[in-house]
Amino acid sequence: NTTLEQEDKEIYDIVENEKLRQWSGLELIASENFTSQAVIEANGTALTNKYSEGLPGARYYGGNEFIDELEILCQKRALAAFGLNPEQWGVNVQPYSGSTANFAALTALIQPQDRLMGLDLPSGGHLTHGYQTAKKKISSSSIYFASMPYQVDPTTGLVDYKRLEENAALFRPQLLICGASAYPAEWEYDTMRKVADQHGAYLMCDMAHISGLIAGKEAISPFDFCDIVTTTTHKTLRGPRAGLIFFRRDKGDKLESRVNQAVFPSCQGGPHNNTIAAVAVALKQAASPEFKQYAKQVRANALKLAECLTGYGYKLATGTTVNHLILWDLKPQKLTGSKVERICDMVHITINKNSIAGDKSAVTPGGVRLGTSALTSRSFKEEDFVKVAEFLHRIVQIALDVQEKCGSKLMKDFVAALEGNQEVAQLKKEV
Ligand code: PLP
Repeated sequence: NTTLEQEDKEIYDIVENEKLRQWSGLELIASENFTSQAVIEANGTALTNKYSEGLPGARYYGGNEFIDELEILCQKRALAAFGLNPEQWGVNVQPYSGSTANFAALTALIQPQDRLMGLDLPSGGHLTHGYQTAKKKISSSSIYFASMPYQVDPTTGLVDYKRLEENAALFRPQLLICGASAYPAEWEYDTMRKVADQHGAYLMCDMAHISGLIAGKEAISPFDFCDIVTTTTHKTLRGPRAGLIFFRRDKGDKLESRVNQAVFPSCQGGPHNNTIAAVAVALKQAASPEFKQYAKQVRANALKLAECLTGYGYKLATGTTVNHLILWDLKPQKLTGSKVERICDMVHITINKNSIAGDKSAVTPGGVRLGTSALTSRSFKEEDFVKVAEFLHRIVQIALDVQEKCGSKLMKDFVAALEGNQEVAQLKKEV
């Protein structure tokens, strides 16, 4: 019955340090958020002790009467959070994460070597949507399936639906995937559906980044168009780290049993019941009026940040944002995302470098991705984001200055030249 602090001070200190880092800096990573205390509590419960392979009422282990109750409640809340009719949609709440949810969904929908098309990673797509380079198949979704990614038009930053349709006519995919990790625009789900139907393909949406906005009715719902919808639960949805797979019950091709089988036994073993409890708590919160207000504020904050950055003269992919994230193109400044990320780290602003469509190299991406979900959970409003934008602008000015003075484009020279920089020290104090 000893506490973590008494039992293992080393780990306790690491946790406390990380907590302090999360709360004392400015968290702008678009895929992160701060869960509620209730979610954290549920995640750290005795439910972690239990094995429950199988589904409610059909387990491979005894002693699952409460776990069955938990999983059924979580399923109900998942459907309710997205306004889904249980006769039309079902959900599997067992995936350990977004990546495993996606691989299980592919396993359920198509056969090895079948053809899929997802948004290319340099265009903002996720690894698990069939990512490969010219030289190498990187993701299991391109290793076990034939992948032909589609792209955004580098001039507009928007998905090039026309080219997607032309390429689909040649490739004849069995599965089309929409959804992304770095896409600040809405999806044309009706166009995606039309292209899928032209080839008798399934349409899957990975709504991981925007699921909180969809639950809060601040983004178009993909459920009206898709056969399968997957999501992580820890981004805008503000839950613990896990995944969900929603499937249409009314399509008549056994999607329910195919998805359930794909999750277990094809891709996973025993569910993480403590996480499922925490997901259930987050889903209850996501269905509340407060969460709707939160989702609205996330978007308002992102729009304000976008307006401020363009006001400073910067270029954003698509010129703006309609969701929680901004793709900031630093190529006009002749800066790499890594350099800006480096200074941000020094002053406790957490962002990530990100490729922008048309980048020459994915190793030194020409932009950064910013998101407003985490700071909105800390009650930041538009006026706070005016200040955040000012900090970011000053960081870019420092980066330009240091780059010019050190006379080299190399990262190691840049880092050395930053040593002892007074403006960085001043900014760190202000943040
Ligand atoms: N899908 C999308 C669109 C994502 O952005 C991510 C993660 O960033 C994932 C899936 C993978 O989720 P996880 O990291 O939980 O495996």
